Amino acid sequence: MMSKTMQDAFNEQMKQEFYSSYLYLSMSAYCDLANLPGLAHWMRAQAREEVNHAMKIFDHLLDRAGQVQLQPIGKPPSTFGSPREVFEQAHRHEQEVTASINKVYGLAVDERDFASRVFLDWFVQEQVEEEKTSALLAEQLRMIGEDRPGLLMLDRELGQSRSGEVKQPVPET
Ligand code: MG
Repeated sequence: MMSKTMQDAFNEQMKQEFYSSYLYLSMSAYCDLANLPGLAHWMRAQAREEVNHAMKIFDHLLDRAGQVQLQPIGKPPSTFGSPREVFEQAHRHEQEVTASINKVYGLAVDERDFASRVFLDWFVQEQVEEEKTSALLAEQLRMIGEDRPGLLMLDRELGQSRSGEVKQPVPET
C-alpha cells in the first residue's frame, strides 16, 4: 500500500514518461522528413524506451496496491528548427525529467516509503545516462554546424545504433 501523495506523484511521473515518448516520436518524424533516417531511428528507439519507463511505474503502482490514474498527455511540438535544435531540446527535456524524478525521490524519503525509494534508484541512475547521451549528441551537432558530410556521418552512425547507444554499434547477436 502506498500513500495518496506517493500515488499522485507516481501517476504524474508516469504521464511525464509517456509525454517523453510522444515528444521523441514527434522528433523522430521530424528527422525522418528531414531525410535523416539514422537520427529518426535513434529517436524512435528513445520513444520506445520511454514507454518502458512509464510501464515500470504502472507496475510499481499495481504492485503496491496503488491506483493507476492515467492523465491526459500534452501535445508535443511537431516542428523543430534544425536537427541540432531537436537534440538540444531533448537534452533540456531530460534535465526536466531528472528534476521531476528527484522530486518524487524526495517525497519517498519524506514519507519513509522505502520500497518506492529503492524502486526510484533505477530512475536516478537512468537519468545520468539520459542526460549524458543527449548532451553528447547536442554537442556533436553543434560541432557539425553547417557541415553536411559530418551530419550524414552522424546519421549513419545513429542508424546502426541499438536502443540508447551512441558510440560503437554492437554487432547483432
Ligand atoms: Mg524516461
